[in-house]
Amino acid sequence: MNPNELELRQELITAAQYCESHDLLIYTQGNFSTRVAGTDRVLITPSDIPYPTMVPEDIVEVDIEGNKISGKYEASSETPIHLTAMRRYPHVGACAHIESPYLNALSSVNKSVPNILGNFVYLFGGMGLALGPSIRSANQDFADNTIDAMGEKFGVIWKNHGLFCVGQNIKIAFKRCIAAEQAARVYYLSLALGQGEPDLIPDDVQAEMVETAKKWGLTKAV
Ligand SMILES: [Zn+2]
Repeated sequence: MNPNELELRQELITAAQYCESHDLLIYTQGNFSTRVAGTDRVLITPSDIPYPTMVPEDIVEVDIEGNKISGKYEASSETPIHLTAMRRYPHVGACAHIESPYLNALSSVNKSVPNILGNFVYLFGGMGLALGPSIRSANQDFADNTIDAMGEKFGVIWKNHGLFCVGQNIKIAFKRCIAAEQAARVYYLSLALGQGEPDLIPDDVQAEMVETAKKWGLTKAV
């Protein structure tokens, strides 16, 4: 295994372990993938394997059509969604899916996450999250409907399930997951104060943030 690919595999594991340690998924939930640059190969976390003891060799290698190339385990059951996103959008280099409690709580009562935090505005280019299909995942129809719903955005909520985010690389896809759940948590807490809807970031400030995000390379328009 070449050093670059080893590093990519470790990045997937690190992202998953971070998410588990911060209650963004439990046990074997969630899934993380990345393209191997310059190839049609994709590395993805295995199905139903715990993250704390996961090693780079446990990551599964598939081609962009979903055919398994190597790995002792089965690829994540959500592999069709990851690959559909990558096939449709050349700028998508990596995908991450988490089972985010605050996002799930809000979407279960039909509330979306507003632009309440700067980090959320930066990482999602001010566009927020799309609302995708709710059930059942792990099949191609669900994958197509998810990516249709996501459109030009960078994240999509599966109601009663979790969040799926894309990025140029796994670091950005993963950071988007964290930023979205953090915004959801703050929104939830602000509502819990019982003072009505919270103030959001003013539109003109959001517009400046979006321009800054473009300069930072956080949006594909750059
Ligand atoms: Zn899931």
